[in-house]
Amino acid sequence: MAEKRDYYEVLGVSKDADEAAIKKAYRVLAKKYHPDANPGDEAAAEKFKEASEAYAVLSDPQKRQQYDQFGHAAFDGGAGGGGFGGFDFSGADMGDIFGDIFGDIFGGGSRRGRASNGPMRGANVRSAVRITFEEAVFGCEKEIEINYKEECKSCRGSGAKAGTSPVTCSKCNGKGKITYIQQSFFGQVQNVQSCPDCGGTGKVIKEKCPDCYGTGYKATRKKFKVSIPAGIDNGQSVRLAGAGEPGRNGGERGDLLVEAVVSQHPIFKRQDTSIFSTVPISFAKAALGGPIRIKTVDGEVEYEVKAGTQTDTKVRLKGKGVPSLRNRNLRGDHYVTLVVQVPERMNEAQKEALRKYDEAMTGVYPEHERTKKKGLFK
Ligand SMILES: [Zn+2]
Ligand SMILES: [Zn+2]
Repeated sequence: MAEKRDYYEVLGVSKDADEAAIKKAYRVLAKKYHPDANPGDEAAAEKFKEASEAYAVLSDPQKRQQYDQFGHAAFDGGAGGGGFGGFDFSGADMGDIFGDIFGDIFGGGSRRGRASNGPMRGANVRSAVRITFEEAVFGCEKEIEINYKEECKSCRGSGAKAGTSPVTCSKCNGKGKITYIQQSFFGQVQNVQSCPDCGGTGKVIKEKCPDCYGTGYKATRKKFKVSIPAGIDNGQSVRLAGAGEPGRNGGERGDLLVEAVVSQHPIFKRQDTSIFSTVPISFAKAALGGPIRIKTVDGEVEYEVKAGTQTDTKVRLKGKGVPSLRNRNLRGDHYVTLVVQVPERMNEAQKEALRKYDEAMTGVYPEHERTKKKGLFK
């Protein structure tokens, strides 16, 4: 596959472009290359896909930060890792991201191509939950409380005052959308827009329900239990089907997407299913070898340092990493960097011991010897 283009380059924006500029740039490209406007044109479809992917990342502050830091590697899954990218391009999250843009482009609300006076699915709701590094590794149960729209009991969600019902909108004859023909570069283009009078519902409420002010729902606070799967990474979301906004005209509720915000760990770093940490060892331990204890997410493990270990030696603790989200039986590894410590302060006895050691090492380090001799002649 060809080298992936830089997302900023794809959208034609600068690295410090703000959200509005990124959205604007994407809107222009999406309009130009959308498959509906270029039937059968594979090059355009490819460009549309490329721009959409760039927008999906750059429009999300967290993903954008990851991208700025790691480039495309941030979403590639990494070599030997679980292969779970930073985002799921096929997920319905994308529908939300594009929803308002396509709404702007094609009109008729966020779900294009759907009869807007028919049942409409409610919008997805986003929330976030903070979890610890370990909770992300092993999974956990969390309870969150969100603003939740409950169907109004007085009007059963219609928004019309008890005893009355919404009437057919006269502007759009109940269709919910208005079609008009526009002349464009490509010839006549049929444009469909959401009806402004009824907001796309095809019905107008003459007398509003006093309990819900005609909205058809009541806002409450509602608690949800969220099951966070083992292996979830920062920025990934858990979907609670049907816990989003209520649908319209009998449409189903949207979903609730709860994003995991994973706290930093004081000693562990993570990339995909790998965990990294640094462990200091004494010079004597490095030279002579011997057992040390290393902290892992499973607790401390004993490790036998080999005699003659150099600083920055990498050690792999197999299966002590993060479980794969896709396959619970697969677990990544924990990579430890052993760093040999040089003592910064020593007492006289320690210094003396080190001088004796130095004498004993005569001839082992020729370079060292020469420096010593030079010193003598000074
Ligand atoms: Zn009501
Ligand atoms: Zn209307």
